[in-house]
Amino acid sequence: MPAEERYGASGDLVVRHARVLPMAFGGAVRGSPPTLPEVPDGAVAVVAGRIAYVGADTDLPAPLRALPTLDAAGRAVLPGLVDCHTHVPFAAWRADEHAERLAGATYAAQQGGEGGRPRGIARSAAQLAAAADADVLAFSHHRLGECLAAGTTTVELKSGYGLQAAQEMRLLALMQRLAAEVPQRVVRTGLFLHGPPPPPGREAWAQRVVSELMPRALAQGLLDGVDAFVEAIAYRLEDAVPLIEAAQRAGLATHLHAAQLEPSAAAAWAASRGLTSVDHLDHLDPDGVRALAASPTVAVLLPGATFLTGGATRPPARALLAAGACVAVATDLNPGTSPLTSLPEAAALACRLFELTMEEALAAVTVNAAAALGLGHEVGSLEVGKRGDLVVLEGDEPALLVYRLGHPAVETVVAAGRIAYRRSDGGAKAS
Ligand SMILES: [Zn+2]
Repeated sequence: MPAEERYGASGDLVVRHARVLPMAFGGAVRGSPPTLPEVPDGAVAVVAGRIAYVGADTDLPAPLRALPTLDAAGRAVLPGLVDCHTHVPFAAWRADEHAERLAGATYAAQQGGEGGRPRGIARSAAQLAAAADADVLAFSHHRLGECLAAGTTTVELKSGYGLQAAQEMRLLALMQRLAAEVPQRVVRTGLFLHGPPPPPGREAWAQRVVSELMPRALAQGLLDGVDAFVEAIAYRLEDAVPLIEAAQRAGLATHLHAAQLEPSAAAAWAASRGLTSVDHLDHLDPDGVRALAASPTVAVLLPGATFLTGGATRPPARALLAAGACVAVATDLNPGTSPLTSLPEAAALACRLFELTMEEALAAVTVNAAAALGLGHEVGSLEVGKRGDLVVLEGDEPALLVYRLGHPAVETVVAAGRIAYRRSDGGAKAS
């Protein structure tokens, strides 16, 4: 019987003899984490999908020794990774646009279309509108499978390629389908202010989103948070403010895409209003750094987009960390600027492009990424009561995660106590 079936039903599992790095710091890490706490010969037990024990293997209570067992044989075990920023679902890649940028085109110029051909967000919207639901779901399932195999057990999905009410509602419904069908915990964000608005234009669409779209999505139980793309080529901060304020009143998580392409006041505003996260920040200015350091808002860095767009400007990650901001890293998985599905690869890029240490990068894709979704109480660290999500690496060294470019060092992925992925070349021994 395959291990996935044998251990798949109950959500009960104990991982033994692991080098356990719980990433438990009593909440999100501000600035740089201290030396990572670890349990050298540790065990993590999951009962009914929830963590019931984290500690020394020798102290594992007797009833938990009877659970289905995964012997990690000294390998490193980390919390399941949290990808707090993706643009799944979408219908197709746009690799040719990457080639155009390599030949000199800019991302901003592509948004306007080139030579009458649709480009950028509008092109993804056209691809989505032309695709059947089954095809969008199949494409998105493949992408989320790739995320899982790289260790992601919680993933944020955004709408945003709808660009008009019916297609945005369709995307939210597809996100709901994916949430029910994948092993990951899915977080659903309405990126209602994203690309070219439908007639009569930007201001009317921004108002309609608040008065009609968000209430409809909320009434149908389809929304965990909202987001807006605040850039000169997209929406102004004043377009997004009513949406963010309405979402905060409704108790939703709130996010902004900000300072990706040019400096803006959006990040400092987001920090002053306590948004859950503000994302990109390549052009963040010192005022924005200070504001984020003084607020609970998580600064989400997206090195895949910086790398793939060839952005010469980098987010001031070291300044953010030195000032005590809470920094997370995500893939920004999207067809235009960041086709990354591997969060370890995003973390590896953040280490070199943005000068994060291994410890900072690990916190950025676990406990801090959970905070960037408002889920710090639920995922992101190995603590009793949290969801039983963990990854077993292919060796005992946690740095493997930010080192094995192109091939995730993740061997086994456990989601809610179930083995959700095991690498085909072996993996920790089950008994
Ligand atoms: Zn994005």
